[in-house]
Amino acid sequence: MANSALLEDGILDAGLEDAEAKRELARLFDRNFIDLATEADAIRRELHPNDIVTYIVDRNINYTNVCWVACSFCAFYRTKRQEQKGDGYTLSIEQVLQKIQETVDLGGTGILMQGGLHPDIGMEYTTDLIRAIRREFPQVHVHALSPAEIWHLVDKSGLSLEEVLRELKAAGLMSIPGGGAEILTDETRRRISPAKNSTQAWMEVMETWHSLGMKSTATMMFGIDESYEERIEHLLNVRKLQARTGGFTAFIDWVFQPDNTTYLKKHPDFKKASSLDYLKTTAIARIVLDNIPNIQASWVTQPMKTASIALHAGCNDMGSIMIEENVVKEAGAEYHTTEAELRSIIERSGFRPAKRSTLYDRSFEPGISPEDF
Ligand code: SF4
Repeated sequence: MANSALLEDGILDAGLEDAEAKRELARLFDRNFIDLATEADAIRRELHPNDIVTYIVDRNINYTNVCWVACSFCAFYRTKRQEQKGDGYTLSIEQVLQKIQETVDLGGTGILMQGGLHPDIGMEYTTDLIRAIRREFPQVHVHALSPAEIWHLVDKSGLSLEEVLRELKAAGLMSIPGGGAEILTDETRRRISPAKNSTQAWMEVMETWHSLGMKSTATMMFGIDESYEERIEHLLNVRKLQARTGGFTAFIDWVFQPDNTTYLKKHPDFKKASSLDYLKTTAIARIVLDNIPNIQASWVTQPMKTASIALHAGCNDMGSIMIEENVVKEAGAEYHTTEAELRSIIERSGFRPAKRSTLYDRSFEPGISPEDF
């Protein structure tokens, strides 16, 4: 980072191994929002000098909500027993194809497909599904399967992680989402989702996938009683991996939505992170992750005006129109938009809207040339 007003030279690269550097970085959260936003915005301008804010039209398809992991923060999953009683679902390949047809009819260019870790779903269903999608909709980008789902396939198949990823790639998987990162410190992971994969396991999936020449995103769900130092550790873990592989296209952070979760039942006085906390955390993410090209504003878990402010605090992307979203909706997130509204909000925030692909190719936007980026 050139001439940072807030950070000493070299502190970001020292941060993970040096406890004092990490504490120093955590003190960024004590700075006022304007200082953080100013620095984050300068980095955004350096990376995206033409004031273009991108977005995608795609659909979030959750192929099953049945999951054995039972994360305390998740309002989406159902047990296999609940599924047997009719409260839970697994989509057939035909049902998924139908949803993609609807997506294409609405102008969607990709799907984000994730699901629970269903005890009965393994490689056969998954590769058959991906192959069928690629065969029927070769123009649709398939962005699917977070690291926890991939480890589930490793466990079910007896194959190595690399073998599973190679098979998924051969079936037609094009990129993977960074979901399930939550907070990448084992202390928080043990506290909120003890049965889920470790920090190292999340990183290993990403590193192996990137080593196959493939791309993914990175995420962070925060505001679940973790410390600021843990948020910094999460960001530094992602930064360090990106320095090795260059495989992350974007970083997306959002605030934990507590409604209908066992976490809220166990912590009835829990208070959701504020919009200011979201904005400061996102600006800090832009500052720490200056080696990741794109940062998304989370309008799904924040009021649109907060997302609009985030565009002046480091974000250069408004994420997805998301024709369907089930996971955070179950946990109380309630914001929706249309493509026309999103474009208008981007313009009113002082930027040029551009429709993009899953891998941030802007050729979907008429009148925008590659030099504009
Ligand atoms: S967050 Fe994912 S892994 Fe955890 S219970 Fe929900 S569906 Fe399962």
